[in-house]
Amino acid sequence: MQSQERLRLVVRGAVQGVGFRPFVYRLAVELRVRGWVANSAGGVIIEVEGQADQLEVFRNRLERERPPNSSIYSLEEVHLDPVGYPDFQIATSTSGLKTTIILPDIATCPDCLAEVFDPANRRFRYPFTNCTNCGPRFSIILSLPYDRPNTTMRAFEMCEACRAEYEDPADRRFHAQPNACPKCGPSLQAWDRTGKPLASGEAGLQAVEQCLRAGQIAAVKGLGGFLLMLDARNQEAVDRLRRFKNREEKPFALMYGSPVEIAADLEVSGAERRLLGSPASPIVLLGRKRESAIAPGVAPGNPYLAAMLPYTPLHHLLLRDLAFPLVATSGNLKDEPICTDEGEAIDRLGSLADIFLVHNRPIARPVDDSVARIMHGREAILRRARGYAPLPVPAGCQLPTILALGGHLKSTVALSVSDQIFVSQHLGDLETEEALENFRHTSRDLVSLYDAEPEVIACDMHPSYLSTQEANKSGLRVLPVQHHYAHVLACMAEYALEPPVLGISWDGTGFGPDGTIWGGEFLEIQQQGFHRLAHLRPFRLPGGEAAVKEPRRSALGLLWEIHGGDLFVTPGSARCAPLEAFSGRELDLLKTALTRQINCPITSSAGRLFDAVASLVGIRQITSFEGQAAMELEFCASSADTDRLYPFCLIEPDERQPSWRLDWEGIVTGILSDLQHGVTRAVIGRSFHNTLCAMMRDTARKSGHSRVVLSGGCFQNRLLTETAIRVLTDDGFQVYWHQRIPPNDGGLAVGQLMAAAREIG
Ligand code: ZN
Ligand code: ZN
Ligand code: FE
Repeated sequence: MQSQERLRLVVRGAVQGVGFRPFVYRLAVELRVRGWVANSAGGVIIEVEGQADQLEVFRNRLERERPPNSSIYSLEEVHLDPVGYPDFQIATSTSGLKTTIILPDIATCPDCLAEVFDPANRRFRYPFTNCTNCGPRFSIILSLPYDRPNTTMRAFEMCEACRAEYEDPADRRFHAQPNACPKCGPSLQAWDRTGKPLASGEAGLQAVEQCLRAGQIAAVKGLGGFLLMLDARNQEAVDRLRRFKNREEKPFALMYGSPVEIAADLEVSGAERRLLGSPASPIVLLGRKRESAIAPGVAPGNPYLAAMLPYTPLHHLLLRDLAFPLVATSGNLKDEPICTDEGEAIDRLGSLADIFLVHNRPIARPVDDSVARIMHGREAILRRARGYAPLPVPAGCQLPTILALGGHLKSTVALSVSDQIFVSQHLGDLETEEALENFRHTSRDLVSLYDAEPEVIACDMHPSYLSTQEANKSGLRVLPVQHHYAHVLACMAEYALEPPVLGISWDGTGFGPDGTIWGGEFLEIQQQGFHRLAHLRPFRLPGGEAAVKEPRRSALGLLWEIHGGDLFVTPGSARCAPLEAFSGRELDLLKTALTRQINCPITSSAGRLFDAVASLVGIRQITSFEGQAAMELEFCASSADTDRLYPFCLIEPDERQPSWRLDWEGIVTGILSDLQHGVTRAVIGRSFHNTLCAMMRDTARKSGHSRVVLSGGCFQNRLLTETAIRVLTDDGFQVYWHQRIPPNDGGLAVGQLMAAAREIG
């Protein structure tokens, strides 16, 4: 018999006062699931308990069979621990402070789509068609309350027909703030690369489509910013785009016209299909089918492709007219925010794009496309922006007003207002002045939208993160929070978990209070703070920061730890891939650096261990984007099916080392021996993943905790996450992993905020 699960669904949309709760009640009773449904200020909340397949049916039928006048703008699902509800009830509505929820941008609904392609409709081929069930929200709001004069639609006066719809309670466009039509709403223009108008409206759209058919590159103003679009089958155009974006190998996202077209090129499960077509319409990572027509340069050497469906009428028109998939990547240079303004786009993208497709509805703030993946059957958001931001995470209790500034990479900021945590859209890495300016602007924007006065600022402990420096300039009380502790608290917040739990916090880099670089941590989360129970055995990173881009340096660090100076003379290691990747002169310098410990910081980073293994097996020595080596190792390992393990041990704490250490030496020697015996990379990679998960299980056993929380960038790796869940669950542990908040540094702000709330509680 299957075990019981609890699913919480937060449904936002036209679901209040349309018979939604009685419908939910009848469905729950019919399917014999237990729990409750209630109205709240933040939407309809449903909790159901039952077997996994019952819950799946409930969830699907909820969407399919909802009352005729209802519609769902967003449906957030979170899997929680069962609490043993005896029956199903319609609960009295939850009260609490009425915090205004700003909705995210919602993908075009089927009704609007039908109108756009209906020649008899007055909105036939109108790219800005929307209704109360779909269209722009977060990307057009200037201030609350959400009324047209407070949006970027304020410059457009509704025509008589639109006004009538807007004022008719029976109409689908009743109080649809961005309501518009060809007569009164925003319009398109095609521009050349100098900003000279070429054609307007339908003719402009046709001109751009002509360019795309001819293999040219278009900069298209969309919902939250400009996208660079081009024929995804055209290798030459893809090469041009790569040179311009200074992006050698990082995969580009694709936009396909329909789910059927995606399924022709890519492997799509039922859960993935649902995710692709959800109101959020994120980019989803999908396995490639061999016979795809996509140019190899879109995702070189990558067995996965990142795909999404059109999410505005404009994108639907383009994709349907063209009938081939487009590369759709954000219009920016590396580490700069996505372009939102026409003039700026001409300046920044004019040397690449052959044509611009612009419109006159201003974008209030940059919002990138979101990225999500299915992990162990559940949605996991890896980049939280369009379609999700700024939906809150419910805190479950009143919080002091805190602003948390996040980390350095994949930056986001978070703000608590009463019992909700509002998380900003993904802002990217704080590597450029433009990115930093966008970060500052977003922090101010979030605070002013909710009219909040933060009492405290939370940030990372790293003194040189720009976000930390911003916190210190604020003049408010600053609470620095340890990086890996914040990761775990972010995941705990998703499940409303109370301590104690064991947190496994694995990523590339985070500031450790002992002056070393942490990243392979096992933290016991206590009522106040945490205890570092265990970590990966530390090793040196020759060249420090340089090791992030060069996995071969991490490999050298491991070998140095095992062999010391002999590593450079042992004949057996002469055929070792990381050693061969350096010149003799470089090796001399590295030997000196390691011997004298010059710029060779100590790390317990799991991310660097992945890099080192990718280097040892010859998958990658130098990377061109963050996490590339680990990603390639994951993909390679996913193709093997084995339960093999490498030998490993846990080293007991002593006076000098107060934490358990997970020793990887047996893994390294095992891999070197496997390589000599011709074992495939896939089998080696898979055995490596298996061993890490066995290490997690043994450490969890030692901890005495029954609940294990997985967080940190390493858990974007599906093979690692799913294997860890399986191994730990089989051993009787309750396992928690990220769902609505990213496991990577995009989740730090939420965790920092929770840490600060505990501290000032
Ligand atoms: Zn609609
Ligand atoms: Zn109109
Ligand atoms: Fe991290």
